[in-house]
Amino acid sequence: MKNNCNEVVALGTGTSTGIPMIGCSCKVCCSDNPKNKRYRTSILLKTSSNKTILVDTTPDLRSQFLENNIVDCDACIITHEHADHVHGIDDLRPLTFAKQSPIPVYTYDLCADHLREKFPYIFKTKDHFKNKAVLGGGIPKLELHSIEQDSKILGEDFEFFLLPHGHTKTLSFIHKKFGFAVDCKTIPRPWIEKLKASKLDLFILDCVKRDPHQTHLHLDAALEIAKEVGAKRTGLIHMGHELEHEHMTQELNGLDFDVFPLYDRQILTYGE
Ligand SMILES: [Zn+2]
Ligand SMILES: [Zn+2]
Repeated sequence: MKNNCNEVVALGTGTSTGIPMIGCSCKVCCSDNPKNKRYRTSILLKTSSNKTILVDTTPDLRSQFLENNIVDCDACIITHEHADHVHGIDDLRPLTFAKQSPIPVYTYDLCADHLREKFPYIFKTKDHFKNKAVLGGGIPKLELHSIEQDSKILGEDFEFFLLPHGHTKTLSFIHKKFGFAVDCKTIPRPWIEKLKASKLDLFILDCVKRDPHQTHLHLDAALEIAKEVGAKRTGLIHMGHELEHEHMTQELNGLDFDVFPLYDRQILTYGE
């Protein structure tokens, strides 16, 4: 990796079912094009200071790490508590075996409460094992940290904002010249302005389907936001099986700004 260069690895670019979806025989689910095979949405940041930060722990985490030769993770950000974003968290266990201290997991307070409820053996360990020993393969050593606006992760500056996503909220962030916003129905005006002012090299944005969706951005809404934010490049993520990679690439090529569908294992860069 070049100096002063930060990388994003797209570990998964698919919606909550993953693509192909079990039992579906649509054109995209049956496609031979590897770019139409999408794990659940997650990215890995490799910073210019050589830190690796995982964003979300999907049910596909084990395959995502193996297929991308990822052997370490210095910190983790959880955007929200939905199954497709957190149900692979136990697969961080082997990464914690050799570590002296737990991997810090950053999220917002309400999401941290959900994680304690969902995974008491990881996040309420003392209570959970009050009258019994930890036997067998052990537990992943993870430690919840609550983010505040402008909080630092491993010494790196992040700015966070909560986006509306149905009954919950999703953590969006800016790190240097990169912005990330998944699982959101819209992006409120103050955060749009902040994203614009950050003159992003790269923006990764939610886009679940063509028609409007109750809790996600659909294609037209995502394109409108991407155009206004004005990043040098915008990659669309969390895509469902209506969105065929090649068709979408060609369709978006005709626009007067750089926006494209991401694919699994794609690597992109952004500056300081
Ligand atoms: Zn999701
Ligand atoms: Zn399908």
